[in-house]
Amino acid sequence: MIQAKLRQAAQGGTLNVRNPRSGVADTEVAATSIESLDQLVAQARAAQRGWQDLGLERRIAVLAKWRDNIAAAQDPLIAAVSHDTGRRAESLREAGNMGKWIDRWSDAARHALVEHQAPTSNPAFTCRATYEPLGLVGIISPWNFPMSLSVMDAIPALLAGNAVIIKPSEVTPRFIDPLTATFAEIPELKGVLTYIKGAGDLGAALVDRVDGVVFTGSTATGRKVAAQAAARLVPFFVELGGKDAAIVLEGADLERAAASIVTGATLGAGQQCYSIERIYVQNSVHDAFIERLTAKARALKLAWPEIDDGQIGPMIHAPQADIIADHIADAVAKGATVLTGGKVLENGGGRWVEPTVLTGVTHDMTIMREESFGPLMPVMAVANEDEALRLANDSEYGLYGAVFGPHERAISVACRMQTGGVCVNDSGASPFFIGDRSVCGSDSFGASGLGGTRHGPDSIRRFVRTRMILDNICAERSPWWYDV
Ligand code: NDP
Repeated sequence: MIQAKLRQAAQGGTLNVRNPRSGVADTEVAATSIESLDQLVAQARAAQRGWQDLGLERRIAVLAKWRDNIAAAQDPLIAAVSHDTGRRAESLREAGNMGKWIDRWSDAARHALVEHQAPTSNPAFTCRATYEPLGLVGIISPWNFPMSLSVMDAIPALLAGNAVIIKPSEVTPRFIDPLTATFAEIPELKGVLTYIKGAGDLGAALVDRVDGVVFTGSTATGRKVAAQAAARLVPFFVELGGKDAAIVLEGADLERAAASIVTGATLGAGQQCYSIERIYVQNSVHDAFIERLTAKARALKLAWPEIDDGQIGPMIHAPQADIIADHIADAVAKGATVLTGGKVLENGGGRWVEPTVLTGVTHDMTIMREESFGPLMPVMAVANEDEALRLANDSEYGLYGAVFGPHERAISVACRMQTGGVCVNDSGASPFFIGDRSVCGSDSFGASGLGGTRHGPDSIRRFVRTRMILDNICAERSPWWYDV
């Protein structure tokens, strides 16, 4: 099987791509062969030096041209990514965000990559910091927000002076051609920014050929990519799965909590790494919260048959629907109650999951332990904030979380969550701050990632090596030299 896959990768081959709304494989995409990959890697390495030598301000000006082209190509980009994902509202966001990210990260780069000299604790020396790009960065991205997640890390990597090759998921490759068209005519980006098309084996081949790796995807694949990059001693950044918890404390504004959580758990039909996937509610407000959450979940509509009529799109990758169905079945078999939803539907050949609220769940159930990646809202009653925290932190993951409650108490609970980020009295806000230098970083805990943050100034500095130049400005002999 592996040999057959490798042979297929070496030959390139064809990807037959399924339409998530119809279930029909309606697009054929020619995959990149290993031979072509080697040529593209050579081109990227040849182009990288010139790109680095342009300097930051000229690189920013080039990316501004790309931003303008993206703005002018919104219609084909939205059409392609809607075809890939079967949904419209999220596709508008994907196409609209890229330009904003270029602007924000350009501003952040001007601050993060400033080379500076400063006195040291030893009066003889000053220290100058200079930054060297990694060289060629390989980016491997998933299918859930396929276009924006492929671009997200490319922007800071490019600003830092790297060449970039991107391998998006084989499940959603239709956006690649229209997006490539937005930079194909920008001469400075020739060879510097390249998309390749193929499956996991092509991703693995990319990891073997680059000087730094960014991987966004499942924890299982992330472990393989991390091991492969570590064996080559190249820096790697893995952005992986999550099982984000929301905690609702006594005294919370329950209407606000329910509105935020129902959105945070079902946006993108729950196919988001930072979806709310578990909810812990203090006993005294449990029933009132459940009533509101269930009413809001019932009010959501599958975006079927019209793509624009409803909030919940299809499962992009059909097998994910089976995982979700298994999580619901396991929970019900172990005593959980479905208050609304609970079904995986086959509408018109696509696979759809109803927004689902469950109670009576426990941590013996898969639904509370493994990433579901669907619009599921399992709710557990807890006695107090200590129990809520013990359960929220009882997870191998540690991506994000949310706390709802009176401000001081909510902040105190947030500070004890074992996650890279926490929203207080809201959920799912972290993507709004991509590229924004005013926020600090968010380092994932546990199996949710390793290697640095996508937020704040450090999101750029992870694509450079810092060089320390120790300059002895003292005319005297140094006291530690041999006296010879
Ligand atoms: P996968 O891990 O299945 O795939 C991610 C990417 O890796 C795809 O491009 C895939 O190719 C490629 N790949 C597969 N095998 C290998 C390999 N051995 N070496 C190199 N690359 C390989 O993830 P999904 O696409 O299923 O994405 C969903 C996951 O992504 C969820 O767990 C979600 O939580 C996570 N995610 C994390 C985010 C974060 O920021 N933390 C953000 C968004 C999603 P192909 O698909 O072509 O086989």
